[in-house]
Amino acid sequence: MRRKLAAGNWKMNGMSAELEELSTLARMYPSPTVDVLICPPATLLYRAASTVQATDIQVGGQDCHANTSGAHTGDISAGMLLDAGASAVILGHSERREDHGEQNEDIRAKARAAMDAGLKAIICVGESLEQREAANTLDIIGGQMSGSIPDQSTGENLIVAYEPIWAIGTGKVPTLDEIGEVHDFIRTRLERRFGEGVGRSVRLLYGGSVKPGNAADIFAVSNVDGALVGGASLKAQDFAGIIDALQNA
Ligand code: PEP
Repeated sequence: MRRKLAAGNWKMNGMSAELEELSTLARMYPSPTVDVLICPPATLLYRAASTVQATDIQVGGQDCHANTSGAHTGDISAGMLLDAGASAVILGHSERREDHGEQNEDIRAKARAAMDAGLKAIICVGESLEQREAANTLDIIGGQMSGSIPDQSTGENLIVAYEPIWAIGTGKVPTLDEIGEVHDFIRTRLERRFGEGVGRSVRLLYGGSVKPGNAADIFAVSNVDGALVGGASLKAQDFAGIIDALQNA
C-alpha cells in the first residue's frame, strides 16, 4: 500500500512570522494518518524542523546541488538539507526549469545526490499549455521521466509529481480524466522501467491549483496518491482542508 502524501511547497514565501502557520498545523495534526510534508524556503528549514519535531509532520527542501560540497556559492547540498532536518527535496519544479534553465540531466544528477544523502526526491514533470494543445503531453512527460529519474530509484526514495505548468498558480485544473490519463501513464512507465514491484510502490502526486474545494475529487482519481500544493499550503487552514480530504480519500 502506498502511503498518501500531502506536500506543501512554500516557494520563495515565508518569514519567521509564517512559522506560526506551521505551529498551527502541528497542533492540528500531531499524528496525521497520511504523510504531511512542508517545504519552506531554506532560510526557515531548520526552524521549521524544530517547530514540527514533536509531530509526524516532515519538512523538505525545494532544490539541492548535485555535488556534496565545494565552491558553489549560494547553493545547498542534499546533505545540508538532511542536516537541517529535511527528509525530502523537490527537484525539477517547472519554476526551476524555467528560472534556472534546469535540464532533465541536471535534475537526474540532483536526484542521485538527494537519494545518496538519504532524502526522498520529489521529481516534478509537466507539460506547457502549448504542448498540451499540440497533443504532446504524454511524450513530454515520458521524456522528462526517462531523462530526470535516476536508475537507483525505489518506492522509498522517489516520488513523482505531475504538475501541468499551465495549472500552477492559475486556478486552472485539468479535468479528472486528464489527470487520470497522465497518472496512469506515469505508473505504466515506472512499472516498465523498474519492474512491477518498484513501479507500483512509487507515490504519484498531482500538483496545480489544488484547493480544499477540489482536493477530494482529485484524490479519487486512480493513481493519485496525494498532492504537491503551492498557494494553498501557505495558510494552515487551507492546507488542513487538503489534508482532511486526503485522510478521508
Ligand atoms: C506548485 O508550486 O507546485 C503548485 C502546484 O502551486 P499551486 O498549488 O499554487 O498551483
